[in-house]
Parts: sequence; C-alpha cells; structure tokens
Amino acid sequence: MSQMRVAVVGAGIAGLAFAAALRRGGADCHVYEQAEKLAEVGAGVQVAPNATRLLHRLGLRGRLRGAAVAPEAIEMRRWDDGLMLQHTPLGDRCLRRFGAPYYTVHRADLHAALLSQLPPDRLHLGARLVAVTQDEGEARLHLADGRTVAADVAVGADGIHSAVREWFVADWPRYSGQTIYRGLVPVERVPHLPAEPRVRLWFGPDQHCVCYPVSGGRLLSFGATVPAASWEVESWSARGDVLGLQAAYKGWHEDVTRLLDAAQTVSRWALHDRDSIERLSWGRVAVIGDAAHPMLPFQAQGANQAIEDAVVLARCLAGAGADAGRDRLRAALHRYERIRLPRTTRIQRQSRANADTFHLADGAAQRRRDAGALAGPGLDRHQWLFGYDAEQAVATTSRSS
Ligand SMILES: Cc1cc2nc3c(=O)[nH]c(=O)nc-3n(C[C@H](O)[C@H](O)[C@H](O)COP(=O)(O)OP(=O)(O)OC[C@H]3O[C@@H](n4cnc5c(N)ncnc54)[C@H](O)[C@@H]3O)c2cc1C
Repeated sequence: MSQMRVAVVGAGIAGLAFAAALRRGGADCHVYEQAEKLAEVGAGVQVAPNATRLLHRLGLRGRLRGAAVAPEAIEMRRWDDGLMLQHTPLGDRCLRRFGAPYYTVHRADLHAALLSQLPPDRLHLGARLVAVTQDEGEARLHLADGRTVAADVAVGADGIHSAVREWFVADWPRYSGQTIYRGLVPVERVPHLPAEPRVRLWFGPDQHCVCYPVSGGRLLSFGATVPAASWEVESWSARGDVLGLQAAYKGWHEDVTRLLDAAQTVSRWALHDRDSIERLSWGRVAVIGDAAHPMLPFQAQGANQAIEDAVVLARCLAGAGADAGRDRLRAALHRYERIRLPRTTRIQRQSRANADTFHLADGAAQRRRDAGALAGPGLDRHQWLFGYDAEQAVATTSRSS
C-alpha cells in the first residue's frame, strides 16, 4: 500500500502537533517552515485539559511534567483594590474532574516537546510558501526559492497571516484596538506575590494583566494589555518600552505595578483576529490552528484549539486510509471541518466577547459582571471547554456528510 503524501506549511504549535499526531497513527509528512531557524516568543502559554490530554497521548506526558507548572487556581481580581472576583480551582481538582492537568508552560518548552516527535529530515527550514495549486491528482506547494512540492494533502498551519488561506479566502486580520506587552520575570524579583502557583488576572477599565509561572516555576510570564487606536509594529522594539508599560498601569494594585516594575525587557504585540469562515478545506488543502481560526488570546485557547485541530485532522486522514483516492480524501477533510467548525467558531466569538467583558469601565455593567463572576460555579463553567475530548469527537462523527 502506498503512503499518503502529506505536506505541512508552518512549524508552529499547529504544524508540529499535526505532524506528531499523524506519525503516531503510522503516517508520514514533511513540514515546510519559512524561518531559517526555529525560535519561539519569550512568553508563556496556558494549556488546558482539552489539549493536555491530547499531548499526553502523543507521548509528551514526561516532557511536559518536567517543564510545565500545574497552577492551583485561576484568580480574577479587581484592578485597583485587588478584590477577588472569581477563584477557579485547578490542580488536583482539575485533574480529577477532567482526567488531565491544566498547565502553564514556556512556549519554547511546548514547541521543543512537539519538535522532539519530528525526525530532523522531515523538517525543511528556509522554505517559504508563496502559492498553492491543485488538480484532480495532487496539491502543490510553491516555495519562494522556486521549488515545488507535490502532495496528496497540503495542510496550512502557517498562522494568522496564512499564505495558504489567502489562496481560498478573501479576508484580512482585524485589529482589536488592543496591544499586549509580554515579558518574563524571575520569581525572586517578585517576592510580594504569594508563592503558590496561580494564574492571576486583574481586570480594569480598558485593560487587564495576567501572569502565571512557567519553566518549572522559575519564571513568571505576564501579559498586560494596553489599548491603542492604531498599531505600528515597526516602532515597537523588543526592548525599551518598559516605562510606557509601567505608565499605562499607574494607579493599579501594587501586586500589578510591582510585577511590571520588575520587568527588565518586554515585547509588544498588536492583537488581531479574523471572522470565522465557513470552510476549513478546499479540495486537497486544509488549514489548522491560527491559519484556520485566529482568535484573541482572551480565553487562552488558540494553541489549545490548534492542538485539537491537529489531532482531529490526523485521525480523519488515518480513517481515509493510506491509499485513499481523491473522493475519500475530500470526505476526510470535510469530516475534519464538520467536527471542528462549530467548536472553533464558538471559541473565537467568546474570545472576542471577552475583550469587552474584561475591559469594562467601572460602573453598572462592571458591577453586574463582578457579581456574576463572584457567583460563578468554578470548574462547572469550563466543562464544555476543558471536558472536551477531540478524539472522542472523531469517533462519534460519521465519515460521510
Ligand atoms: C499574547 C498572546 C497570548 C496567548 N496565550 C495563549 C494561551 O495562553 N493559550 C493558548 O492556547 N493560546 C494562546 N495564544 C494563542 C497561540 O499563541 C496561537 O493560537 C498559536 O501559537 C497558533 O499556533 P499556529 O501554529 O497556528 O501559528 P503560529 O504559531 O503563528 O505558527 C505559524 C508558523 O508558520 C510559519 N509560516 C508562516 N507563513 C509561512 C509561509 N508562507 N511559508 C512557510 N512557513 C510559514 C511561521 O514562521 C510559523 O512558524 C496566545 C496568543 C497571543 C498573541
């Protein structure tokens, strides 16, 4: 039986998770990445049970346990007096309830764990996709250096500015009006924060700040949003704007100001998403991760959803059989799309809605939000999100539409 030829564009979390999931099912793929050298942003990422259960099945349990932190709770507080608005228990309670941990991890550690599953000769660096074409028999990736790669299936895992998506959808990233400063602080520089590992958030008018431990608890990763009418990436250097960040949070609770005072370098990013689309595949080509459904980070689910996509698409392709013809491949890609679209669309919308909820000015709407948050039922609220098992979703979705 011949092997299905699968070509992946992008070696981010989506592309590497897909490659790992495909290989776990006994299939092969090649990953084409534009960067000459892989490097992740110096920041953390929250990985919830809906994704950690999948990462464990990919064989990454030990690696994650070594690098990640399992926070005991998520705490949401007011911006000025630090009043607790909501406390969601995680730790053992989360593990018992969902059968998988909630982790906070340095992005480089997650990326390295996924990369460890890919044989070096399957990763092609300095390979920038400029065009995708296809006909009845195959899909073709056209690279900037003039090479053409033929495959039975091509997967765009090339992020929010996806070149693959551009060939099929006429849309653009939408600027949210928010920017985010990110940084890492050694924990010994923030002795005022209690030592128990927590995801801590402070909500205030127009902005919020989040922090959590990564790198085995040695570093605190933080993200602090600041609204900006327009965005100019060019003028934001990776270093040097610490004073601007600190000024934007003047008057906030001292837990926040002391955390930001401890930051020596920060990076600043404009936050974009896109509207949901109605399809995630076209013929022999599919998109996953941010290429498929870029979302604002206000639910901390973009990477989690990329991992779910990766596992679902790999399972759908495996279900089509290694020597599947065009019709079976299309059916497999439609199955992937049917499973993923309702969920990712919901999460994209919720993430956008949170941009308003998190940033309410003090007043009646903020008081209603806070009263609702205080009455919130802890982990119950997260059942639909954290309790989801993407592989089970494949098992319970028929192959034909
Ligand atoms: C501030 C912030 C905080 C976040 N926090 C969280 C969180 O806590 N939890 C969470 O789940 N998510 C979080 N996210 C979202 C998460 O980071 C993304 O959803 C995730 O990284 C998307 O991964 P990806 O592989 O789809 O895309 P990317 O990480 O963008 O990777 C795309 C890859 O494709 C390559 N590429 C691009 N174009 C080409 C081309 N033409 N040819 C070849 N290669 C190409 C790129 O170089 C890159 O390596 C956060 C996002 C932000 C901005």
